[in-house]
Amino acid sequence: MKKRTFLQTSATLVTGSVFLSSIGCVNINTPHSAPIAPVSAEGTFTLPPLGYDYQALEPHIDAQTMEIHHTKHHQTYVDKLNAALKDHPLAGKPLTDILPALTDKDTAIRNNGGGHYNHAMFWQSLSSQSVMPTKAPLADALQTAFGSPENFKQQFSDAAKTLFGSGWVWLCADANKKLFITTTPNQDNPLMKNLVKTYGTPLLGLDVWEHAYYLKYQNMRTDYIAAFFAIINWEVINQRFKVL
Ligand code: MN
Repeated sequence: MKKRTFLQTSATLVTGSVFLSSIGCVNINTPHSAPIAPVSAEGTFTLPPLGYDYQALEPHIDAQTMEIHHTKHHQTYVDKLNAALKDHPLAGKPLTDILPALTDKDTAIRNNGGGHYNHAMFWQSLSSQSVMPTKAPLADALQTAFGSPENFKQQFSDAAKTLFGSGWVWLCADANKKLFITTTPNQDNPLMKNLVKTYGTPLLGLDVWEHAYYLKYQNMRTDYIAAFFAIINWEVINQRFKVL
């Protein structure tokens, strides 16, 4: 390619990407390391776009569940989090700073800050195109920690099936980047180091609240868990692990 042609091509690519960000269009299948729940310039949190249509994950998760989950449940966590942080010393900080600082006295920020972070991460973790991880470093780390990707899937599914009540199942990395599975009740997150049984950096979370699956699956949580494995965006999970 001649230098002139290269410069023109580069300019077009840059213009294209500025255009895509200006209309809020993000390709969910592109690995990225953008903040999961960024603070706005005003110091508040806003509902992030899914990055795909409500029907994109059909038949695994139905469009009505996705729309209610995003526009009602997640929006409520965002609104209540902003209300709880009003005039609070932690206001304006990112959730990656807020969550580790929480104690058992911070109930509203714990429930709604966890709710916002967990859901923002959940939407980014899903894709209509899912392939079990074969790329380093995540594939190697899964092999080391669980023996095989299939063993990881089995252990994660078992944790999701046996978690009593509402909560989340997590694939996390510890300080040495060793992977482990843990669960949290309600909207707790493994970053809440003063509040959870096992502290770690979450890479992938599964929402096992009934609001995440009841319209389609009713009491069949096992079928919802199996469907989840068909829509994990492993490129995003791999990228989260790489930047640790
Ligand atoms: Mn939820």
